[in-house]
Amino acid sequence: MTISPAIVSWFRENGRDLPWRQPGFPAWGTLVSEFMLQQTPVVRVIPKLEAWLERWPTPESLAASPASEAVRAWDRLGYPRRALNLHACAVAITEKHGGVVPSDVDELLALPGIGDYTARAIAVFAYGKRVPVVDTNVRRVLARAVEGLAEPGSPHAKRDLPLMESQLPDDLADAHDTNAGTMELGALVCTARSPRCAECPLEAQCAWVLRGRPAHDGPPRRTQKKYEGSDRQVRGLLLGALRASEIPVPASELDEVWGDDVQRSRALASLVRDGLVVGTPSAGYGLPD
Ligand code: SF4
Repeated sequence: MTISPAIVSWFRENGRDLPWRQPGFPAWGTLVSEFMLQQTPVVRVIPKLEAWLERWPTPESLAASPASEAVRAWDRLGYPRRALNLHACAVAITEKHGGVVPSDVDELLALPGIGDYTARAIAVFAYGKRVPVVDTNVRRVLARAVEGLAEPGSPHAKRDLPLMESQLPDDLADAHDTNAGTMELGALVCTARSPRCAECPLEAQCAWVLRGRPAHDGPPRRTQKKYEGSDRQVRGLLLGALRASEIPVPASELDEVWGDDVQRSRALASLVRDGLVVGTPSAGYGLPD
């Protein structure tokens, strides 16, 4: 028995009413939402996504704006390289696909900033294709409910994708809801630290529960790096100063943003290397055109 029937009926009753799940939501909107969701929680993405799609309702409209405007509008969503990638992706869709987001996984994978997860998510959530989509939440549910393990092993596409595919029914709508519902169950119920098995539609068939909830015996979970004082924080502060200015910002002004010269220089150099900032110490710094 697969996990699909229980997941599908649970998801149809309990799935969150998210913008990208509305009927008729455009494929471009799904693509933008997936870029934003790559590193940012849903609650922070929703208002930013709405504003983004109002301003740039199609790939062509974003492609016609300078990349600096995309970085500026990305604001404080974090990991701003995604804004540059999204802009480059809009340009590629406009130039190579006539402004239509492709539905084929391989064509999606050929676009800038789109990796295996995002390509599959767009194919499934925007176009209803029957392909497996596997993120951290899905891997956790599969590890517990199907494999009987407390925690998933390291990500491994050659193992994870066939395992999810083996759970997908033939019916397209059911396959879609199995993908979306497994992800949702991992986000809301089968969470990393405290799975709520009593509320889970899989409790009666969950292999981990049936094995008596054995403890994790693999390598320890990776903990998230601290943000405060990190190079990421300094990069965010420097970008914030540049976003706020329409003209190049002198290097001496950026000195005020962060007191540690070595760390600030390292963060600035990495922003320049990533193409998020252009400039020199003598000419000042700004966002790319
Ligand atoms: S029964 Fe518990 S461990 Fe199993 S899938 Fe549901 S929440 Fe996760």
